[in-house]
Amino acid sequence: MIIDGRKIAQDLRTDMATQVALFGRKPGLAVILVGDDPASSVYVRNKGNACEEVGFYTEKINKPNDITQAELLAEIERLNNDDRVDGILVQLPLPKHLDANQVIETIDPTKDVDGFHSENIGKLMQNKPFLRPCTPKGVMTLLAATGVDLVGKNCVVVGASNIVGRPMAMELLNARATVTICHSKTQDLPNKLKQADIVVTAVGIAQMIQGEWIKQGAIVIDVGINRLDNGSLVGDVDFESAEKVASWITPVPGGVGPMTIATLLENTLIAYKAREEK
Ligand code: NAD
Repeated sequence: MIIDGRKIAQDLRTDMATQVALFGRKPGLAVILVGDDPASSVYVRNKGNACEEVGFYTEKINKPNDITQAELLAEIERLNNDDRVDGILVQLPLPKHLDANQVIETIDPTKDVDGFHSENIGKLMQNKPFLRPCTPKGVMTLLAATGVDLVGKNCVVVGASNIVGRPMAMELLNARATVTICHSKTQDLPNKLKQADIVVTAVGIAQMIQGEWIKQGAIVIDVGINRLDNGSLVGDVDFESAEKVASWITPVPGGVGPMTIATLLENTLIAYKAREEK
């Protein structure tokens, strides 16, 4: 069966819009885009549109490609101190001359709606999460929608990046699954995958994972977004062969992607509620 990320994300947004309509002050999200990378510009526009749909206050801040580190940090400090802003997101990747790590660490952890600040990653590691990285958290929402109990399941995460693979593994561990993390140096990936009740791929190589590597009845969540020469988008999984063996599978597009943005809004709402309760 297909896990319909678009529908699940839409349901989440509708629920948030209903809540926000009753609020006096609106939850606020500031999104900083440095430069004019076309893919980043599309992501930022989509995030802004989703915010408006649910009734959030949004600030879209475009900075030139040659902004200095000090200027960017000053902008973040301004937003850290702005009471209208509950969430701050700096669209990655940043131009090479900027230190993304220092930028992330400058965001007030209570406004870090991407969940990348070391304080929020540390809380996730300790299974006391506050703001959780959006893509892995969105995957957990998709898994919950299948109704399958994750406790004790064998999960294989392919990819070990800071923004997807590592926090994804921690999410699954926190759900009391047994987790294996694979990466570019992993030996015999097909055999590792064959053991998995749940596969999450975040690699960035088009259609790399073959259906014959997947165990019959496994759940397959494809985080990858890869553009083919003909312009179409595909995941890391060869969907056609994998859907024949999987019990549940996410499509690309229309699976994890829409959930990432809906989860960003969810995180902004959590940050808003935490600040309102202070
Ligand atoms: P990354 O390049 O930072 O990490 C890729 C990971 O894949 C690395 O850990 C690497 O070791 C591993 N890898 C590379 N080749 C491999 C191989 N042959 N076998 C096994 N592992 C291999 O990428 P990322 O930022 O984690 O993103 C991964 C993919 O997910 C990309 O396609 C990206 O566009 C997509 N993505 C999607 C969303 C979304 O919302 N759907 C969000 C973030 C990233």
